[in-house]
Amino acid sequence: KACYRIFEPALHQRTTRKLEVEKMELEVALSEALKHKEFILYYQPIFSLITSNLVGFEALVRWKHPEKGLIPPNKFISIAEETGLIIPLSEWILAEACHQMKAWQEQFENAASLRISVNVSGRQLKESNSIEKIDEILTATGLKGSNLKLEITESLLMENRESFRYFLKQMKHRGIELSIDDFGTGYSSLSYLHRLPFNTVKIDRSFITNIYSEENSINIVQAIITLAHQLSINVIAEGIETEQQFRILQGLGCEFGQGYLFAKPLDVEAAQGVLMAMVNS
Ligand code: C2E
Ligand code: CA
Ligand code: CA
Ligand code: CA
Repeated sequence: KACYRIFEPALHQRTTRKLEVEKMELEVALSEALKHKEFILYYQPIFSLITSNLVGFEALVRWKHPEKGLIPPNKFISIAEETGLIIPLSEWILAEACHQMKAWQEQFENAASLRISVNVSGRQLKESNSIEKIDEILTATGLKGSNLKLEITESLLMENRESFRYFLKQMKHRGIELSIDDFGTGYSSLSYLHRLPFNTVKIDRSFITNIYSEENSINIVQAIITLAHQLSINVIAEGIETEQQFRILQGLGCEFGQGYLFAKPLDVEAAQGVLMAMVNS
């Protein structure tokens, strides 16, 4: 009870002020970083759990800070979303990912059918010209729509139904695949699965982590896979870290997987090494 006395409005105000200042500094630093091209993409390989073939990469952004080193996306994506900086940042990410995939296709014959998966932010979808932007990028890089996949988190599905539906339909026309990201963590409405043109659901890592130790997790994963398959939707599991998790998912008929067991997100050169190994095998 004595603890209640610790609360002091002035102190609280000072802390809030400090956080606000830190946030403002981060905002400024982010827009400077964009100008100075301090963002880079890492690429995490995605494999077929059935054939073990490489099927593509997920592009994951990092901030290469001149002093602080590599800063992970969870430190800056939400601020970028709040400030709107996510719009130019996402545009750069999409263009860079498409450009890289195209370059790999020119370098490696067997890269022709690989897909590059790019995470899409909510703000990005709300832009009225998001479809034109994607078209511009595909034209500029020469990448085919069938080599691109967009990962959209569940929470976004709740908002803005009609325009969102239109966006998805337009993507589908271009051969761009659509994946629901972090499936199972949001307000899952199973009705999205058959009403919207998704090709894949990506089961969130939290379920995969406990798949071996918690009966509930394996039941949920199994239910998601069964349901998806009944709707002709593929399943990808993220965050596969152990052989046991991999075997269970394989047994449940999960088509695709990514995770530290196979590979971490890699810089361009290391990702190229994976492509090279594929050619030589
Ligand atoms: P996400 O889309 O769920 O991405 C998967 C995250 O899990 C990545 O973290 C990846 O490095 C990590 N991961 C992959 N395999 C494993 C594993 O086996 N074990 C563990 N413990 N982790 C694994 P990362 O790169 O830090 O990205 C975090 C989140 O930031 C992403 O979650 C995504 O929501 C967001 N993000 C990343 N890149 C972008 C981007 O280009 N645009 C947008 N809008 N968001 C991005
Ligand atoms: Ca993702
Ligand atoms: Ca995910
Ligand atoms: Ca996740």
